[in-house]
Amino acid sequence: KDNINPRYTFENFVVGPSNQLAYKVCLEVAENPGRSFSPLFLYGSVGLGKTHLLHAIGNRAKTKGYRAMYSSINDFSEEMVKALKEGKIEKFREKYINVDILLLDDVQFLAGKERTQMELFRVFEKLQTFEKQIVLVSDRHPKDLKDVPDRLVSRFESGLLLEIGLDDETRISVIKKKLMEYGFSPEDSVVSYVAENTGYNVREIEGFIRTMKILGEVPKPVRRDQRSIETVVRYVAKNFKVDPELLRTDSKDRKVVSARQIAMYLCKTLLGSSYTEISRYFGKKDHTSALYAIKKVEEKRRTDRKFHHMLKFLEDGLRKHLS
Ligand code: ADP
Ligand code: MG
Repeated sequence: KDNINPRYTFENFVVGPSNQLAYKVCLEVAENPGRSFSPLFLYGSVGLGKTHLLHAIGNRAKTKGYRAMYSSINDFSEEMVKALKEGKIEKFREKYINVDILLLDDVQFLAGKERTQMELFRVFEKLQTFEKQIVLVSDRHPKDLKDVPDRLVSRFESGLLLEIGLDDETRISVIKKKLMEYGFSPEDSVVSYVAENTGYNVREIEGFIRTMKILGEVPKPVRRDQRSIETVVRYVAKNFKVDPELLRTDSKDRKVVSARQIAMYLCKTLLGSSYTEISRYFGKKDHTSALYAIKKVEEKRRTDRKFHHMLKFLEDGLRKHLS
């Protein structure tokens, strides 16, 4: 089992200024592994297509008759622990050495995993001796990896280091492509609707368009007027026992900041207001203020059950007020 997902290919990867170098190098690596760019270390923030490119390399390399294998560091680590327990560590090592291309994802998770680091180092040395290809992907530069020993970091840096990004032009191409994949026509108004409501993250863009598909149309939020934003703000302020007017100022009072972030979040989820609209209402310069505040609430909601229930309570109450 090589763990390579046939869904991710070079053909369905959208290329633009911010990722074309990474794309070209990955293509070269898939066709001529081990020649010029090994190890290849690719890094960049979440949702920019790093995992997609790893699988694309694997898929292309396989058509050329190369043996490729994909593994995330966490899977590599779990497999290693299991092999150690069962006395099969030699078999484990062999499996990772017997490839032409090793594709390793989420290298940042090496942090603090000493035994995994040690085994990876061995595999690394062997593959390099045989001039095999190694491709590593991480959310940060090797120098910024935490709790990873220097000898590994310097190995990671010994080949080609490339950062992948998402610029506006590429982002718009991605939105158009994904809209078409989901059966929408990429008219300007629809493209900018998606652009306004998503960040610089292809996973988020895809998720947003998928939701549009499920709803069956380009969502025209029912009540995204000033009045309903005010309803949300007043409701949240009342629950937090703060003056609603303060939410529109730049008061740094903790309670006001929380209430403001939550109100922004609820405008997004309940009213479908755009980041731009929300930022404007709260007196902020550009859409990133709302984007940032909403992200924070989303994150907290995922990890904090109490917080989640509090939001649920506000949402249920507000739905009644808004309908
Ligand atoms: P990362 O590993 O960088 O967090 P992924 O590779 O998992 O990101 O990408 C997230 C989603 O976005 C995947 O479904 C992927 O196919 C898609 N995607 C990312 N970048 C592109 C791109 N340039 N063209 C087409 N799809 C993309
Ligand atoms: Mg990934």
